[in-house]
Amino acid sequence: MKIALVGIGKIARDQHVPALEASPDWELAATVSRHGTVEGVESFTAPAAMLDARPDIGTVSLCLPPLPRYAVAEAVLRAGRHLMLEKPPGATLAEVHALCDLADRQGVTIYATWHSRMAMAVAAAKDWLAGKTVREGRITWREDVRKWHPGQDWIFAAGGMGVFDPGINALSILTEILPEPVRLLAADLDFPANRQAPIAARLRFSRGVEADFDFRQEGPQTWDMEFQTDAGRMALRMGGNRLEIDGRHRQGADDIMGEYPALYARMARLVSDGKSDTDLAPMVLVADAFTLGRRNTVADFQF
Ligand code: NAP
Repeated sequence: MKIALVGIGKIARDQHVPALEASPDWELAATVSRHGTVEGVESFTAPAAMLDARPDIGTVSLCLPPLPRYAVAEAVLRAGRHLMLEKPPGATLAEVHALCDLADRQGVTIYATWHSRMAMAVAAAKDWLAGKTVREGRITWREDVRKWHPGQDWIFAAGGMGVFDPGINALSILTEILPEPVRLLAADLDFPANRQAPIAARLRFSRGVEADFDFRQEGPQTWDMEFQTDAGRMALRMGGNRLEIDGRHRQGADDIMGEYPALYARMARLVSDGKSDTDLAPMVLVADAFTLGRRNTVADFQF
């Protein structure tokens, strides 16, 4: 199946292009980006031009930041093409609901992806937790924004989500693996004085689950989740790629390269089966954190 990629930036180059090149299901047939191209692939600078010129391309995958995403997503669906969205699937919940309704009316597939759910040990963690009672949980998601988002000012603009851009990955795993859902009870959000989105956040959920997100971590990065249950301790480390039970390694490794191939394999199945996948639970928790969050002002941040 032919697919076009829109927004040839960091994640498109790091993950989407290699995943598509290795995919048995997809042929990368066009790119749309004002600056970026992929060697050997027809390139456009505007989505409308690509949609007009290439009716043979049935699926479009958007790697844009969330703020400019809606207009392109709407145009793709109105043109009757299947749509795949990077996380977070939009800037607001309302706009993603509108896209889901439009995809439904157009009879095409929409897939709101959560790449961290495809991490190696997530399915095993979900299986292990099934039927158990979570007594408490601790999520520590600390990474260096300068390494993963170099110079990306959009991430600290209003609607850019700040530290929730990586934090929503943790929440996508949390909402996938827990046997019973959690709800947000309270949040503390640290906004740099010169920015419009938080650089750190501490969240408290029901079922004794807490989260600590921070974008200022230098050196080793931490993407860990630890749970105490009625039947032992479970830890998911390396962003869902390593599973430990009662302190012993059970499954997985420190490798994140399988996530995007798995996303594209799932998209191929959804298109073939005429289905959609749009679980917005992680985004609801982020929206609730902005609704309930206490705002603290912290030091200016410069890239
Ligand atoms: P990026 O490199 O800053 O942006 C991707 C591309 O989108 C840019 O190269 C740019 O292409 C286009 N773009 C940026 N701002 C735009 C605007 N205002 N209007 C229109 N086009 C715009 O961002 P990224 O790191 O790839 O992230 C994109 C998405 O992937 C985000 O939702 C992010 O959460 C997700 N993601 C990122 C990472 C990561 O490690 N960085 C990991 C997983 C998921 P042109 O200028 O060429 O048009």
